[in-house]
Amino acid sequence: MARYTDPKCRECRRIGEKLFLKGERCFTPRCAVERRKRPPGGPISRKRRSSDWSMRLKEKQKARYTYGILERQFRKYFDAAREKKGITGDLLLQTLESRLDNVVYRLSFADSRQQARQLVGHGHFTINGKSVSIPSYLVKKGDLVAWKQKNGNLPKLALTALEGGPKRAVPAWLTVDAAKGSGQVMSEPDISSTDTGIDMRLIVEFYSR
Ligand code: SF4
Repeated sequence: MARYTDPKCRECRRIGEKLFLKGERCFTPRCAVERRKRPPGGPISRKRRSSDWSMRLKEKQKARYTYGILERQFRKYFDAAREKKGITGDLLLQTLESRLDNVVYRLSFADSRQQARQLVGHGHFTINGKSVSIPSYLVKKGDLVAWKQKNGNLPKLALTALEGGPKRAVPAWLTVDAAKGSGQVMSEPDISSTDTGIDMRLIVEFYSR
């Protein structure tokens, strides 16, 4: 399973914004964007002018880094969204939000999408009672995502994650049952409530050159 191995903070510095890829650390003064304002790769002697193309590229990279997706997979999602009826950018964002690793993160079962991806990959979750270890699995309306139980009990990892309830606001298209360690997909992802600040229009323009 191919994945990004670049240090996460480096990705934020490359974009020049906090992308909140490392959970709690992102909210502390240890955040690399807070500490080092310059992009990685040494000092820049002159300020680069950003072209329309570079703005669109940056937005596309921001989306890829935020959801932890490689270029090839991202392009596939874009092509699939373009084939469907509707607004391509919205459909693309809905697909990204429907990924199982993102849903686990949105349900507040993990501190970051990276951690969620790891937990899913290690087989800690079930969907409708069946074990699923594919982070890119796309959930559907009605799916029940749950921590995998051992001998009828939630594992220690789950209890730690669930302690004190959700750490972040859970979007309205999902509901959480902390006692059971599960969450349900109530509807298609409501992209109007996404907090990533990605301008999908620029991404569509990038691929439509
Ligand atoms: Fe980005 Fe978080 Fe690293 Fe800050 S701490 S640079 S927000 S991943």
